Amino acid sequence: MSVSGPQGGERLDAFMGRANAAYYAQRDPFADFVTAPEISQIFGEVLGAWCAVVMRGLPVSSGSPLHLVEAGPGRGTLMADMLRVLVRLAPDCLASLSVHLIETSPRLRKAQEEALAQSGVSVYWHDTLSDVPSGPMVLVANEFLDALPIRQFVRTETGWQERFVLNGQWSLQDCSDVPPEVMERGATVGDVVEISPASAGFVRDVAERLCREPGVALFIDYGTATSCVGESLQALRQGRPVSALVEPGTADVTAHVDFASMARAAQAAGAVCYGPVGQGDLLRALGAVQRAEALCRSAPEQAGAIRSGLDRLIGPDRMGRLFKALAIASPDVTIVPGFSEKTAGEQQ
Ligand code: SAH
Repeated sequence: MSVSGPQGGERLDAFMGRANAAYYAQRDPFADFVTAPEISQIFGEVLGAWCAVVMRGLPVSSGSPLHLVEAGPGRGTLMADMLRVLVRLAPDCLASLSVHLIETSPRLRKAQEEALAQSGVSVYWHDTLSDVPSGPMVLVANEFLDALPIRQFVRTETGWQERFVLNGQWSLQDCSDVPPEVMERGATVGDVVEISPASAGFVRDVAERLCREPGVALFIDYGTATSCVGESLQALRQGRPVSALVEPGTADVTAHVDFASMARAAQAAGAVCYGPVGQGDLLRALGAVQRAEALCRSAPEQAGAIRSGLDRLIGPDRMGRLFKALAIASPDVTIVPGFSEKTAGEQQ
C-alpha cells in the first residue's frame, strides 16, 4: 500500500497514525479533551453491570476462563469503575477473569497500571487484539475507533482526488484506485468522503474472533449511524480546535466513526450486530438515571455535580445523541442488554 503521493507528501491516514502515536506517547490527552468515564463514574458503573449480564449469558461452562478486554483504555478509569461493580455483581465470574488492555502508549500503560493496582485482578497489556490469548471475551472500547486513521477523498470536476499532507499543508492528488465504498456514497462535486480502513479492520478482527469463540464487543464513540458524505476530521489542543495539520503529536486528531460501515464489516465476518443506539438511550436502558439518584441519596452534598455529569452523558444536546453504541456478538450469543434490535443487514 503506497502512502506517499505522486507529488510527494504523506497520505492522510499515514499522517494521522503517526501524529496520534506521537500524541498518545508524549502527552496527557486528558489535558486536551474529556471522555465519558472521566465525566462521571456512572458511565463505568452501568457498563460494569452490562458486562456482568453479558458474561452470565455467554454459552460457556461456569468457571471457564474469560477475558475482559478494553481497547484504548486511556487512564484506566472505565476499567477501574467496571471492575468495582463486577466484584459486587459477578463475584463468581471474577475468579476466572483476566483483564487485557490493548494500548500502544507506554505512558498511558503506566497510568492504567496505577488505576488498576487495587483491583485484585490480573491485568495484561497488548499492542493489538491478535496478541490477546484465545478464549471467550467481553470487549469494550470507548473513544478508541475515533482515534484510528482515516482517508479523505474529494469529488472534483475531473474525478476523485485524495488528500495528502505535504509540508504541513493539504495536497490534493489524483487517485486511480478509489475504493468502491467511496464512490457509492452519492457525492457531488466539492464533496469530501471519509473512510477508515483501520477502524473497519479492527472491527473485522473482533468479529472474526467472535465467530470462533463466544463473546460480545461494545463500541462507543461519536459518529454517524449511516455512511454519509462530509468531513469530520478534527484536532483538539487544550480543549480548543486547531488545524489537524499542526506539528504531529501536539494535538489529538479524531474523526467521526461511521457506524454503518463498522456494522457492515462485522456482519461480513459473520458476527451479529445490535444498534447503533444513542449513548443516552443505552445508558438510560442500563439504569444510569437510577444509579445517579442512588448516588445523590448517599452523597447529597454532591447531588448537583452528579446530576450535571449524568446530563452531560445522556442529554440529547450533549453527548447523548452524537455518541452512539454498537454491539457485536457471536452468532450464538443472545443476551446483549441495552439493545432492543439487531442491526439489519445481509447476515440477518
Ligand atoms: N477509552 C479512554 C481513552 C480514549 S483516548 C476513555 O474513554 O477515556 C484513545 C485511547 O486509545 C488512548 O488510550 C490511546 O493511547 C489509545 N490508542 C490510540 N490509538 C491506538 C492504537 N492504534 N492501538 C492501541 N491503542 C491506541
